Amino acid sequence: MSDEQDATWLALAVDLATQNVAEGGGPFGAVLVKGDELVATGQNRVTRDLDPSAHAEVVAIRAACRAIGDFSLAGLTLYSSCEPCPMCLATSLWSRVDRVVFAADRDDAARGGFDDREFYELFSRDRATWGTTVQATRTADASSPFDAWLSHAARTAY
Ligand SMILES: [Zn+2]
Repeated sequence: MSDEQDATWLALAVDLATQNVAEGGGPFGAVLVKGDELVATGQNRVTRDLDPSAHAEVVAIRAACRAIGDFSLAGLTLYSSCEPCPMCLATSLWSRVDRVVFAADRDDAARGGFDDREFYELFSRDRATWGTTVQATRTADASSPFDAWLSHAARTAY
């Protein structure tokens, strides 16, 4: 992938982000590309869909998986108008894309009033200091789902 191609796809992601603002959405856009082919686009749909997980990258990843008919996006590149937040970065890793390329960064997002940078910093701090309680409460059957998974010969690994 050449720098010129990267710039072209990033420009599309940025355009989608800017258009989304005019349509009442958040200022984020993303596209997924395989080779020189556009596979899917995504725009932030959090407020429109009442879905806090509907970030542009996640929306684009879901659309690409439907378009391809696979839960793996190996071989694809994700272009985002802004540095993916921790959720979107993790979703990118789960989707197995080859590359993630972004234009603006977490500092730009912070200037816009978004928590991307805050959440990255949160993950580097002790959970005991978080405003949201995250706790482990180990139950007797906690590992049962994994036992069932490992003994299920027809499981689809991912
Ligand atoms: Zn995100």
